[in-house]
Amino acid sequence: MFFQVPDNKIKLRIRNIPKMDVQGELLMKKVVIIGGGIIGLSSAYYLKKAGMDVTIIEKGELGKACSQGNQGWVCPALHEPVPAPGLMTESFKMLLQKDSPLYIKPTAMPQLSSWLSQFMKFCNERDFKAGEAALLTLSQSTLSLFDSLQHEGIKFELHRKGILFAFLSQENLQKKFKRFEEVARVFGHEQPVLKNSEEIQEIEPSLSTSVQGGILLTEQYHVRPESLAQGIINKLKEMGVNLYVNTEVVDLEREDDRIVSIKTKSESIKSDYFLLAAGAWSGTLAKKMSYTLPLTGGKGYSITIQNPSTKINRPLYLGDLKTGITPFNEALRMGGTMELSGINTTLDRKRIQGIRSAVSKYLKEDIKGDKEDVWVGMRPMTPDGLPVLGKVPKLNNMYIATGHGMVGVAMAPATGKILSELIVSGATEFKIAPFAPSRFGEGAKLYS
Ligand SMILES: Cc1cc2nc3c(=O)[nH]c(=O)nc-3n(C[C@H](O)[C@H](O)[C@H](O)COP(=O)(O)OP(=O)(O)OC[C@H]3O[C@@H](n4cnc5c(N)ncnc54)[C@H](O)[C@@H]3O)c2cc1C
Repeated sequence: MFFQVPDNKIKLRIRNIPKMDVQGELLMKKVVIIGGGIIGLSSAYYLKKAGMDVTIIEKGELGKACSQGNQGWVCPALHEPVPAPGLMTESFKMLLQKDSPLYIKPTAMPQLSSWLSQFMKFCNERDFKAGEAALLTLSQSTLSLFDSLQHEGIKFELHRKGILFAFLSQENLQKKFKRFEEVARVFGHEQPVLKNSEEIQEIEPSLSTSVQGGILLTEQYHVRPESLAQGIINKLKEMGVNLYVNTEVVDLEREDDRIVSIKTKSESIKSDYFLLAAGAWSGTLAKKMSYTLPLTGGKGYSITIQNPSTKINRPLYLGDLKTGITPFNEALRMGGTMELSGINTTLDRKRIQGIRSAVSKYLKEDIKGDKEDVWVGMRPMTPDGLPVLGKVPKLNNMYIATGHGMVGVAMAPATGKILSELIVSGATEFKIAPFAPSRFGEGAKLYS
């Protein structure tokens, strides 16, 4: 049903009972989003499209933090929970090594111990499979939602070139190939294509002859994440979304089972609904609502090289050393690593060096270019490796969307759509029970 309303009130699709003001005019419901990363931006887009009056409050700049220097892979075939069977044993040797793909900072151990002990419980076959099946609801629509964003006039760098996994070890290659065959069979993701060392050289001539072979997935996408965020920001401005930057939400005002306003250092902002999308920082504000959210930062690093000397045709995953190389227009990005060192964005040069040295093992020549930018970002990580989507327990108008870990860019459109449906109509057709915020907290049972 559509209503035509005057001036600042827009053409609005109504699913909930409409609210009228004293003159009987339709009022747009207000929603305030805390956090302007890719999850907040994408949610703002779908909420505004659905007819809400949307405001984003961002403590820094929009689309920066973790949503800026990441690899931008939109690869639903790779969506799986981070806690995997055998991960802790396999990685144990690496855990305390400063340049390894997975590193836990010894001094951060005390503050991480509770999160880590929950995480370790999820490193088993049963939970991994259940998590993988749960993520399918977000993965199935991933590629088509990115196509739609483009068709809806959001301008960003989108590549449909697939992804290539390269391996130095035959054993690792075969193991990963079996895994892709399994996800293709069980979840309907695309069939992997095995490439031997000659075939992989043909499609990626810059790879060194030490590479034993690889796996090609042709249907996956990648984006330049900065351009995606900027494209959405431009669209939000056009649509009339209120954007606050350099404005930190420091507190919330609660009345019974509702949040009535959020507080910044200088003002208090009222709204009908609120959405917490503050990435790895979401736990701090959750606590102020008496909601215990076990969230930590999974720090990753990248190096972006302008006008690179080496040509890479499609994203490469260096499978043995868990590092990625992503080609963009006139640039190339190398990145990866998972560092658990608490909530901070301190850049550790040894981790940057770890990425460079991993890349040099796979390529014929070191990548050079006009300019290099190093970057660090914090992935919002839950102990079960699943996002947290829905209404905050015991609150009627406070929603949350975070915990997307390694795949927040890919899952941003699906997340935005889900949160918009939930806030506008109270329901969504996506199967989101496994992502329920109520799975955490006192007396709660984690999805398992
Ligand atoms: C090295 C690396 C590679 C990656 N590669 C990929 C990839 O290839 N594909 C993929 O899908 N994902 C990838 N990711 C993961 C992806 O980057 C994240 O999942 C995603 O960016 C998280 O988005 P977000 O909006 O939740 O968080 P953020 O981008 O961190 O945004 C949260 C925002 O909230 C703001 N905020 C926090 N507290 C407050 C407050 N109190 N008041 C106001 N604002 C606040 C912050 O300033 C920030 O801007 C990668 C990550 C890393 C580190």
